[in-house]
Amino acid sequence: MRFDMQADLNPAQLEAARATDGPVLVIAGAGSGKTRTIVYRMAYLVREGMDPRSILLLTFTRKASQEMLHRAGKLLGQGLNEVVGGTFHAFAYAMLRRYGRALGLPDDMTILDRGDAEQVIKQAKENQSIGKGDRSFPRKGTIAALISKSRNKEIGLEPLLEREARHLTMYGEDLQAIADAYARFKKEYGLLDYDDLLFRFEELLTEQEEIRDFLRMKYQHVLVDEYQDTNLVQGRIVTSLVGPQGNVMAVGDDAQSIYSFRGATVNNILQFAESFPGVRLIKLEQNYRSVQPILNLSNQILDMAEEKYEKKLFTERREGRKPELLRPISDHSQARVVLSKIEDLAQEYSLHEIAVLFRSGFQSYSLEVALNKAGLPFKKYGGQRFTEAAHIKDVLAYLRLVLNSIDLPAWQRVMTLVPKVGPKTCQRLYDQMAAGETAALEKSCRQNADLKAVLEFITNLQKQKSERVFVLLEQVLEFYKPILKERFPDDYPRRQAGLEQLSQIASAYEELDLFLSDLSLEHPDQLGQRDPLEDNLVLSTVHSAKGLEWEAVIVLDLVEERFPSKHALMDQPGMEEERRLFYVACTRAREYLGLSMPDSLYNRYQRYHEAALPSPFVQELSPEGFDEFREDMSGALKAQGSVKREKAATDRAESDSGRKKNGNFGHCRHKIFGRGKVVQFIPPNRYQVNFPGFGLKQILEDYLEMEG
Ligand code: ATP
Ligand code: MG
Repeated sequence: MRFDMQADLNPAQLEAARATDGPVLVIAGAGSGKTRTIVYRMAYLVREGMDPRSILLLTFTRKASQEMLHRAGKLLGQGLNEVVGGTFHAFAYAMLRRYGRALGLPDDMTILDRGDAEQVIKQAKENQSIGKGDRSFPRKGTIAALISKSRNKEIGLEPLLEREARHLTMYGEDLQAIADAYARFKKEYGLLDYDDLLFRFEELLTEQEEIRDFLRMKYQHVLVDEYQDTNLVQGRIVTSLVGPQGNVMAVGDDAQSIYSFRGATVNNILQFAESFPGVRLIKLEQNYRSVQPILNLSNQILDMAEEKYEKKLFTERREGRKPELLRPISDHSQARVVLSKIEDLAQEYSLHEIAVLFRSGFQSYSLEVALNKAGLPFKKYGGQRFTEAAHIKDVLAYLRLVLNSIDLPAWQRVMTLVPKVGPKTCQRLYDQMAAGETAALEKSCRQNADLKAVLEFITNLQKQKSERVFVLLEQVLEFYKPILKERFPDDYPRRQAGLEQLSQIASAYEELDLFLSDLSLEHPDQLGQRDPLEDNLVLSTVHSAKGLEWEAVIVLDLVEERFPSKHALMDQPGMEEERRLFYVACTRAREYLGLSMPDSLYNRYQRYHEAALPSPFVQELSPEGFDEFREDMSGALKAQGSVKREKAATDRAESDSGRKKNGNFGHCRHKIFGRGKVVQFIPPNRYQVNFPGFGLKQILEDYLEMEG
């Protein structure tokens, strides 16, 4: 009970933690202690005698609320198990279970998870014979995502398509029909999906005043972290649950809003002041997380944003290392370069204080293999581990059979991919194969053409056993291509990206056995024996790194189409969200920040590395703010001379001012998109161009030929 708020919090934080009477909004930049303030407020409330059961803590993930409760409990020296903490969805579910009867919900209400929802959608589609024989009709996963998005954004399906998926507008009516059937189905069977949890809970609060008033009384204090990533209905739930005079504290950072693709809206922050007229607004400006050079770089990222974020963070940790720009020769050598950086950092920090962040899960695949080889343990968040991804396992199974034809698990895996082969047949075939009963095997194949094809394929591969891994893998990928689409109709493009990584990894190996043993180091048996308390490096998507911090952070793949992602390059709001995502990534670091920007990306089809375009977010940074290192031919990192950097800076400044003078744009040409109209110059070196038939695109000036 002896924690000392005055010593542990700065005056603004203290004010926020103690302002327990009425609504409080804390808007502040990354690392300024927002989450810490909530933790102290909870501890303070309990110390002042508030019943823990009347405190409600709403966070973005379950893990986040557990962690916060744990910290508050530590301050108090007592467990805080009675505080109600969790996500909006979990809380809504708990409330509906208890009070849902008032809405006519059954006691044993069933929740449809995403997989179930997709099945119902598939059924609805088939029942109405929609999209029959049309190969480009969106898959069930896509339809489920669209329906959910339209609900979370609270706009109709058709306007949503208009805005975000123009290529699907022609299916508008069909999709609406499916959505309607899906809604009817849920209603008929008393089922709720995740989105319903929020909407039905809102309904409970608005329609059942008695229950609402009861809950208002019960939850005397409501605390919400990461408010910038709540969506419309979540915002209304808070308003309604708390009531205009209630005690609520919401904390957030508009510059870190990274979930608008799921319907989150920063406007909730603005709306907050209107919903709670007497709100006390508190700003926190001191950053306690990062050293000044990291903050300078992070502040710069926001300076270039379209939206003006009125925040300049400062810290008292003025000393500190400049961030580093690491420039591996390729995304392939990036794994090696980053690994050796991690090994250096590990001299100074424990592994769990080092994190590698990336935009999407597959981007760490090469690094995962390198880490396995080096024996460095890691944990991955947000995105599957390379060696656990089903499609990677499938492909490796064929190769394992090449190496060892009686590898039973590999055999089973391959056989389950063959239509009409059940476990029994699989075993029988295996026995026949292992016993060399060719005649019997051939007989089994006569009835199943797919089976015949796969056995022939494997036999043929086995004959090429001593070929380079790459050659074998290419054949497997060709063979597997239709299976991939069949097996993962909704996200095969994403998985395809993972297979391309696999192919890149393979290109470095001569012999199959070495390749396979490197990749299978992480056998599930070994995993089981792992000490959970072991010191693990962290690999994480940026989205999953929200709110967290590490001593050292390395961000991978800062090149166009990776970060920012391909998808985001197409439109301005997407780019801005991507920028905030980059801001979130950089502000996770306390002492060391490394930005990795490979010079080239591997192209599987061409089998060579293509020059990569540096991420615009890195290009915009002033070169004085970081130290640059290039990988040389020997694989070592060499510092780049400062003279060159300064020159680059003056060149940039000069060309910028030149352009600004002549702000009148005409037409230009692009190799792929043809002739287009230049709409806008986007510093430092891009143009937004409207290409007839292709729409608005942002293109680096080097790729455009200006007319006149
Ligand atoms: P984010 O926007 O990334 O969620 P945040 O604003 O929630 O960041 P916190 O995670 O609460 O920031 O704090 C960042 C770090 O600074 C934490 O390690 C926290 O303990 C530390 N910190 C915050 N305020 C203080 C303070 N007054 N004294 C010492 N350390 C502090
Ligand atoms: Mg936080």
